[in-house]
Amino acid sequence: MPQSFMYGDHKISYRLTENPSLRTKIRIHIHSDGIVEVEIPPAKTPEDITKAIYKRARWISNRLNENSVVRANVLPRAYISGETHFYLGRRYQLKVSENNEAPSSVKLKGGHIQIILPIIDSAAVKHRLNVWYRDRALEYFQRRVESLSSNIPWVEVAPTIKLFSMQKQWGSCSPKGTLHLNPWLVRAPRECIEYVIIHEMCHLKEHNHSKKFYRLLDQQLPNWRHLKIKLDGMAELLLSE
Ligand SMILES: [Zn+2]
Repeated sequence: MPQSFMYGDHKISYRLTENPSLRTKIRIHIHSDGIVEVEIPPAKTPEDITKAIYKRARWISNRLNENSVVRANVLPRAYISGETHFYLGRRYQLKVSENNEAPSSVKLKGGHIQIILPIIDSAAVKHRLNVWYRDRALEYFQRRVESLSSNIPWVEVAPTIKLFSMQKQWGSCSPKGTLHLNPWLVRAPRECIEYVIIHEMCHLKEHNHSKKFYRLLDQQLPNWRHLKIKLDGMAELLLSE
């Protein structure tokens, strides 16, 4: 029979299996489908078991989170209520509702991305959500580019931005000085977005990845390496549709 415990506001269920080959140790496995299995030696009391599980609660919760991120990544998105989508580095749950008397809309409310459509179907939800992402992306990137421009000595006028969906790239800088930014970057944490924008703005002065370029980048954003690693680690997740 599955049992459970609370960790923060999450209910974590687990399955107990008696393993006679264990003498005193309690073993905990997290299966790839998210099932938590607790192997116990026959002589353990329920209190011992609870204590052992609580001791590793944080570890179990972390592993389950990693697991669900990986699974969310593998599964194609269904664009249904309850599904997780990212915006500015935060996870939001989709909440889709039908209303054929109001115009379609997308709003952030609490931890939700609320979508109202005249008729719900996953293709329509996907389309409406993507339009919203692009709108938010352009608005947010423009605002950031403008404010970052004032701190970068070689930028006199904030460069023009164009959204450009790219498979494996977050941004690029045209020879004429237009910044092309991937709209899905708006799913990333703010500091990672800032890193991409500053990287591209350094190209306004140094067009290739020369030593001079990296010197500029180091001056403008000393911790950019850390942010690059963070963003690269999330790339698959943020770019998946
Ligand atoms: Zn570059």
